[in-house]
Amino acid sequence: MSVGLETKLQGLLGDRTQKALSKAFGYSTLGDLLGHYPRRYATRGELTSIAGVPLGEQVTLVAEVVSAGQRSMRQRRGSVLEVVITDGTGLVTLTFFNQAWRQKDLVPGARGMFAGKVGAYRGERQLAHPDYELFSDEDVMAQSSEEWAKRPIPFYPATSTLASWQLAKSIGILLDVLEDVPDPIPAEIREAEGLLDFRDALEKIHRPTEEADWQRSRDTLRFQEALVLQTALVRRRVRNAAVQSTPRTPGGMTAAFVTGLPFSLTEDQVAVVDDIHQDMASGHPMNRLVQGEVGSGKTVVAATAIVTVAQSGGQTALLAPTEVLANQHFRSLVATLGPEMAATLKPVLLTGALGQTERKKALLAAASSASSLVVGTHALLGDSVQFADLGLVVIDEQHRFGVDQRDALRLKGSHPHVLVLTATPIPRTVAMTVFGDLDVSTIRHLPKGRSPIESHVVALADHPTWYPRVWARIAEEVAKGRQAFVVASAISAQVHEEGDLEDEDEAEGVPQVPRASVEDILPMVRSLPEFASLRVEAIHGRVPTAEKDAVMHAFGAGDIDVLVATTVIEVGIDVPNASIMVILDADRFGVSQLHQLRGRVGRGEHAGTCLLVTHAEVGSTARARVEAVAETLDGFDLAAKDLELRREGDVLGASQSGRRSSLKLVRVTSDADLIDTAREYAERILSEDPELAAHPVLAATIQARLDASSEDYLEKN
Ligand code: ADP
Ligand code: MG
Repeated sequence: MSVGLETKLQGLLGDRTQKALSKAFGYSTLGDLLGHYPRRYATRGELTSIAGVPLGEQVTLVAEVVSAGQRSMRQRRGSVLEVVITDGTGLVTLTFFNQAWRQKDLVPGARGMFAGKVGAYRGERQLAHPDYELFSDEDVMAQSSEEWAKRPIPFYPATSTLASWQLAKSIGILLDVLEDVPDPIPAEIREAEGLLDFRDALEKIHRPTEEADWQRSRDTLRFQEALVLQTALVRRRVRNAAVQSTPRTPGGMTAAFVTGLPFSLTEDQVAVVDDIHQDMASGHPMNRLVQGEVGSGKTVVAATAIVTVAQSGGQTALLAPTEVLANQHFRSLVATLGPEMAATLKPVLLTGALGQTERKKALLAAASSASSLVVGTHALLGDSVQFADLGLVVIDEQHRFGVDQRDALRLKGSHPHVLVLTATPIPRTVAMTVFGDLDVSTIRHLPKGRSPIESHVVALADHPTWYPRVWARIAEEVAKGRQAFVVASAISAQVHEEGDLEDEDEAEGVPQVPRASVEDILPMVRSLPEFASLRVEAIHGRVPTAEKDAVMHAFGAGDIDVLVATTVIEVGIDVPNASIMVILDADRFGVSQLHQLRGRVGRGEHAGTCLLVTHAEVGSTARARVEAVAETLDGFDLAAKDLELRREGDVLGASQSGRRSSLKLVRVTSDADLIDTAREYAERILSEDPELAAHPVLAATIQARLDASSEDYLEKN
């Protein structure tokens, strides 16, 4: 039997190891495990001594464990494992949050290498969550001292059941038996780019003998990733351009709709509508992403396309990520269409929350073409939903839906046009990587006459007394007849809302104070004297949909003064009378999330205020993020700033880390040039060989990787 990347791990590795790999990472083949690249390398030659450990720098220490102990955290859930190590010149404390299991390895006397960034906590030097590799005696004996000093040691993403050294060992076993590996990179490209052959690159990324080895391997494998992805995306476009689709051209109805609007479209809106009309008239399916700030007027643009499609007898399906948003889209589209156009198009709403009778009605309206517009959640994807003539699919907030879902909906028609709307400004490299098969239009400027949002950082680390003033400020706004949002990152002390930052980030620059949660803040706020006569309610992700809708509706109607909420209000909620938003623990949110949240105020005639409350200390990344948001209202600027502040690799979301994904090495933040180059090669390859007949390895790799990852990164982002 020849051993290749498709070979099963079973039989090659011990049963226990193989089961652990499957459980921890979902790996079942040799290719899976060899794709588990080291996160970092260290060489013993460049060791730091503890006495000279510099604050803020990345260091590698060889040291011995002196003591290890756990304590619970003072003001929050969870525990800290503190491990003191020494190299004879001094002591350093390692801290691990909620990872008590490490204590069984880090016993006094254990020796190893410890790598991480040096921080300070209460004046003591510490490494938070360092990488480490413990030595066994046989390790130390096995190598000559010169080799020992020079050979890079890989650190792998590890788990409680699989330590880095265990992964290294298993990978070594596989590399010993792996035969030649077909290379997806065409030979002439490999030569032109000075890349290693695939087999060689796999060897040297895992078992480098010197630094240059892994660097070159990484360049090679990174290039391969970029090329595979770009070829896949360019091929999608090429295939799409070969597909026939019913042309939809604007006519009298479109013109009537646009002139009937209570405002004239902005220059940007006109340009985007033109893009859409050109695409839809082309005879091939449109695949367009429209990006524009919250409030930039995407709904009107989409409505124009919907009217154009309806004009020629076609239907539109609009897919929203949540019930609340589907409801809101439905209402705002009906309002935007106006009574006459709405009477013609007969929009219906189709969500999982509908009762049997209503659901049947909606299904019938869709199937019979009685309705030209069906707005709904993922309920639209169900088999029972059929359309008489689906001409257009509009998808709101693409980053919550994957290509698969786009396809599921697309298949309900005969190659309908697809329009994706997103309020998250996407930097070019991300657009090329994640949405590489979509054309992009941008609404850059907001309609005139918007009141600007004033944003302030309420830095409790420097000014603890400002906290009460936050609440007084809300009371003032309500006294003027306005409404307020209070946003918290957690539902309760135990339950965090989906999508907040990982615990791992907590060590960086944010003192350990308890997080504000909706369930704690609600009674607190209600008990404030200045809130005595105010109507305060709360919503979050665990509130049943019907109740959530009811509360949102009441807030929209002005029956609630202050709404305490989690990020469930992030997208699309439109309440023009809301003029102030307080975001508690603002450092718990990402830059674009804060920007999205803030977009909920200042949507009407009243100037908006956003107070970003944080405990983060001056100089920390967390604080810098919050300050960046306060400094500019331009979402595109922020998106760029955000990329600078993020740790590498965060861009495509959590699904990237460790698990199967087609992007392990490519960093959309810093690899723009690489992505461009790969794109050019991909276009060249496909222009000569559209079906990749002469590139079978590349074709097979695309298939394998995209199959594995479409559920993964495409869906999550
Ligand atoms: P988005 O969907 O991009 O968040 P909307 O389409 O909901 O933005 O538009 C926000 C508000 O601005 C709506 O009340 C809409 O009627 C209004 N609006 C849209 N386009 C214009 C325009 N060109 N001039 C004035 N107001 C506009
Ligand atoms: Mg909208």
